Amino acid sequence: MEGEEVSDAKTLLQDAKKNAIKRLFGDWDESFRFIPKLMSALHSSNGLLVDWEYDSLPNPEHASFRRVFWAFSQSVEGFKHCRPVVVVDSKQLKGRYNMKLMIASGFDAAYKSFPLAFAVTKEVSIDSWCWFLTRIREKVTQRKGLCLITRHHPDILAVVNEPGSQWKEPWAYHRFCLTHLCSQFSRLFPDHHHHTKYLVMQAGSSTQKAEFDSYMKDIKEKSPEGWKWLDRIPPHQWALAHDSGLRYGVMMIDRKALFAVCRSFQKVAMTGGVYTENVMRKFQESLIDSGAYVVTPLESDAFQVSGPSERVSMRHLMEKYKECIVELNDSTCTCGKFQRKRFPCLHALAVFQKMKINPLPYVDDCYSVESYYKTYEATFSPVPEMSAWPEASGVPTLFPHVIAPPPLKVSGKGKGKSKSKEPPSDEELRNAILDILKVMDFKMSSFTDIIKQLGMSLRLGVFISFLY
Ligand SMILES: [Zn+2]
Repeated sequence: MEGEEVSDAKTLLQDAKKNAIKRLFGDWDESFRFIPKLMSALHSSNGLLVDWEYDSLPNPEHASFRRVFWAFSQSVEGFKHCRPVVVVDSKQLKGRYNMKLMIASGFDAAYKSFPLAFAVTKEVSIDSWCWFLTRIREKVTQRKGLCLITRHHPDILAVVNEPGSQWKEPWAYHRFCLTHLCSQFSRLFPDHHHHTKYLVMQAGSSTQKAEFDSYMKDIKEKSPEGWKWLDRIPPHQWALAHDSGLRYGVMMIDRKALFAVCRSFQKVAMTGGVYTENVMRKFQESLIDSGAYVVTPLESDAFQVSGPSERVSMRHLMEKYKECIVELNDSTCTCGKFQRKRFPCLHALAVFQKMKINPLPYVDDCYSVESYYKTYEATFSPVPEMSAWPEASGVPTLFPHVIAPPPLKVSGKGKGKSKSKEPPSDEELRNAILDILKVMDFKMSSFTDIIKQLGMSLRLGVFISFLY
């Protein structure tokens, strides 16, 4: 009996929550049909770039949603000042319509994700990856020599490598997320102690080819089948030691940071200096560590950097890093980090410190404060009152792919008939809260959840039903 009561109370609360949200924002289907108008308002006020795709229905004024792509023109401008790296990924959306969110992002000077383009699709497939990546090339960036970082997935590989693709060399260089590759490896070749997965991670993160070879040898001994699979993937696509600095040391897709841009932009503290704060902090930390090295000048801007072996924690790396040659002419070091991460390694910093050379010219411009400001220079204009929003021209009344549209005889006037949703008045808001309080059992912990949900809905407005 007790269990049933709890279940009844839970259902009651869930219904109350649904009703409150519906009263404030309309229902899911109404919100869904409202999206073209919202996109249209963002297009006319802020130059939002949008591309709709839908399947026709018997009534020509209705269509079944297939996917929508959007990118802010401000991102298009800002990306010109970011390093030439693009990360793409997708995720399942919560909510009623079983849809997927696709995202493309760059990196700003402070290493933070810089959102470039989004899409919501009813499915993630070869076709939708092809459509998304082609739209990015058409609408967002035509830069040559981009590094594209994705999961190691057959659908993406098929799209990138198809004839005429602008995501393969020389237009772009395709690289894989190392974390995803490791997970794939351990799924295909299970190992209870995850030891080989660790070896794959180490092989991929190594900055020297000899070190990479050594880990691959270990993998071959412990998992011959796994090694065969790994050996078929070109090493420059997943291993840092075989990358020539194109991926700027970005080895994995940080999904949490990538999708966090859907909720908020991170604020980054700026220094008054030439480079962003975390770049300057890295400098300070590294300069302390580099102080113990011995620097010997060789010919033409080359330096031998020795020791200190006791500071190197991994025993087998000790010998390799004991003596390195730093060449300032081409910003390289035999440890491999300087050129592959495009940021001075400890050996280079030791040279700068001992020889009293200013290290800043040896840091890539993409990390500079000037690049950072230029990335965010484009301004957003206020979106006008909803009553002034234009109708979405050329877009029929859309129905989610999982919802059947009204029968032809009833549908009649199509999109012109739908009434736009006004924001909630104070009275509507009060009534919605009262609705919740009427059915609320104050001993239930989900009370807080409902208030939180209400607060979140108020802030996120109509997007709540679309994205979550
Ligand atoms: Zn080095």
